[in-house]
Amino acid sequence: MNSKLIEKKLELKNIAITAMRKLVLDVFLHQKKAVSLADLEEILNNSDRSTLYRTLKTFEQKGLIHGVQENNKTQYLLCNDACDEENHYDFHLHFYCKNCEKTTCLEDVNFNQLKFPKGYKIQNLKFVANGICKECSLISK
Ligand SMILES: [Zn+2]
Ligand SMILES: [Zn+2]
Ligand SMILES: [Zn+2]
Repeated sequence: MNSKLIEKKLELKNIAITAMRKLVLDVFLHQKKAVSLADLEEILNNSDRSTLYRTLKTFEQKGLIHGVQENNKTQYLLCNDACDEENHYDFHLHFYCKNCEKTTCLEDVNFNQLKFPKGYKIQNLKFVANGICKECSLISK
């Protein structure tokens, strides 16, 4: 991914540009599926674990990525443009594949229209389905 484009994406979410942040965002832009801290360490070897962790936390806080927990492991996925520092709008289904152990966002199944009783302000909604993802079912055929 072109470096200018990566910087633009960081600026869009009010994230100060650093070499590490550019590297990490580049990984997210290349992966179609979720990325965990362990994945990041593997891809960007020689990177300090706590720096990577802090980078993920900053991205999450600024609305660039959202985390999904499955099997006690947090994996992160890119947010859409609507997410910002105040709010995340990732109210869609997350699909965990038992075969490749990866999570994907299924934006087609979204819950933005859900109605809640008056007086409740929803800040986080979690919907996780699991099974076999599209790529894995194609391979097994
Ligand atoms: Zn988000
Ligand atoms: Zn799979
Ligand atoms: Zn998602």
